[in-house]
Amino acid sequence: MRNSEVARVFQDIADLLELKGENVFKIRAYQRTARAIEHYPKELKIMIEEGEGLQSIPGVGEAIARKTTELVTTGRLGYYEDLKAEFPQGMMNLLAIPGVGPKTANKLSSELGISSVDELERAINDGRVAKPFRLGDKTAENILQQIQALRRKDQRIPIGEALPVVEEIIAALGSIPGARNLTAAGSLRRFRETLGDIALIATADNPREVIDGFVALPQVGQVLAQGSTKASAIVRGGLQVDLRMAEHDSFGSLLQYSTGSKQHNISLRERGRRQRLKLSEYGIAVIATDKLERFSTEEEFYHRLGLQYIPPELREAQGEIDKAEQGAIPRLVQLSDIKGDLHSHTEWSDGHDSVEELALAARDMGYQYIAITEHSGGRGIAHGLDVERLRRQLAEIRALNERLTGIHVLTGIEVDIRADGSLDLPHEILSELDIVIAAVHSAMHQSQEKMTRRLLDAIEDPDVDVLAHPTCRLIGEREPAAIDLEAVFRAAARNDKIVEINAMPNRLDLSDINAFRAKDLGVKLAISTDAHSIAHLGFMRFGVGVARRAWCEPQHILNTLPLAELLAVLNRNR
Ligand SMILES: [Zn+2]
Ligand SMILES: [Zn+2]
Repeated sequence: MRNSEVARVFQDIADLLELKGENVFKIRAYQRTARAIEHYPKELKIMIEEGEGLQSIPGVGEAIARKTTELVTTGRLGYYEDLKAEFPQGMMNLLAIPGVGPKTANKLSSELGISSVDELERAINDGRVAKPFRLGDKTAENILQQIQALRRKDQRIPIGEALPVVEEIIAALGSIPGARNLTAAGSLRRFRETLGDIALIATADNPREVIDGFVALPQVGQVLAQGSTKASAIVRGGLQVDLRMAEHDSFGSLLQYSTGSKQHNISLRERGRRQRLKLSEYGIAVIATDKLERFSTEEEFYHRLGLQYIPPELREAQGEIDKAEQGAIPRLVQLSDIKGDLHSHTEWSDGHDSVEELALAARDMGYQYIAITEHSGGRGIAHGLDVERLRRQLAEIRALNERLTGIHVLTGIEVDIRADGSLDLPHEILSELDIVIAAVHSAMHQSQEKMTRRLLDAIEDPDVDVLAHPTCRLIGEREPAAIDLEAVFRAAARNDKIVEINAMPNRLDLSDINAFRAKDLGVKLAISTDAHSIAHLGFMRFGVGVARRAWCEPQHILNTLPLAELLAVLNRNR
């Protein structure tokens, strides 16, 4: 059972207890637990297996730890089943709508027989709900909007699609005179891999001008709301963008508030309360005097709370506030630390550009090296290289390296891991290459046991340096293959092998949570774009985002090494 499923159960328990009119502290405790578990970076299942106490999770006491263990190990929780049995199922469905509390849900289901979100939508539109519930137009409209939001929430948009659209909008707004500090906040700024709504914030001498300019942009479709300092609209690609204007001197507070995460901000507000301070999007108020202090930067905001600045990618309520208090926030890896790309394809296999074009583009990006890693020529992969073609490519790269200055091209291959765990090319040729990355491209539905064994075989093969896109997932398209990643990470650490964070925005494989775990187990990671064209080299920032969310520092990432040191690491197997 995954953490998000466990969290959902505890949230349901909180809702049901509220309906029963239970003690408010008890209800709050379950709500807190649900949020803490939902955002906890480590899978509870693993913690339990390793005998690690669940009480290290904020808000989890002894009783809840016991319930969690029951739920995670058996897949059900007696207490929850008993509680649910006291209520009708239809009511439970309605509770999923954010604007509908347990009391309303109960009444809708017991008095009108409404038992699903769709039925409720129809009933509101038919006017069947308004009268018995004395539901004003405004409230009814609100519930309908929540239902739509709920449906949108199921269709989160990958960051790779959202970010370019948002950047286009920011660039367009930038041309409005007086518009300043245009910034994407929310989950986009935290670099979540998929996004719901986009929060944009900005300052201006005349906010109205920016709002009017925003709703008039060609990228903007339906305008959902428009006021003098904020507007919401659906933009190209189906994203909802909420633009909000701040005063210049409170920009830092609004940026902090709008960036979230929700749970991070709740923890921060609790901390403020203990310091007799009240936090809001406008600033920090001293409770005793009610005097509001404003902050033009986030740094000042965090410092006022006695905290080190916390990078947005870490604001997920996973211990970052304690670390900031101790001054122990790590110096996270950043794009400028990256010295080269270790996974790319050219026209030799299924890529678009030549080796030289890719090399020159990498040099323009300030890189010291780029590895050319075509597909191997085994079954199923179009234009893969066999031994003979690979040798011809090696000669081309050798000649190129003599000619080019300022960039070194590494020879390499993305060798296919066959269904039986063997590699698609022989040792003779693999041992000649600067870098060998290995990856699965077929038979992804093998049993977990087989899949894991297959990856372990590759990791233990002396010719292999890097395991590429380890889970083979495609966000929104293909679930991760069934793999015992713990075993894979431990083997990689033991064998001194590198595991890839594939930066293709539809892959992001390893994910943030998996990368965090790998790093924790001492696995060295590589952030690679898997570029199939020059433009794809720009995907590096998505991989860096994942690494930052995984608390990675430069020393955790292989391709922050300068060329000579990188070659020393890669050569140790040869
Ligand atoms: Zn691949
Ligand atoms: Zn590839």
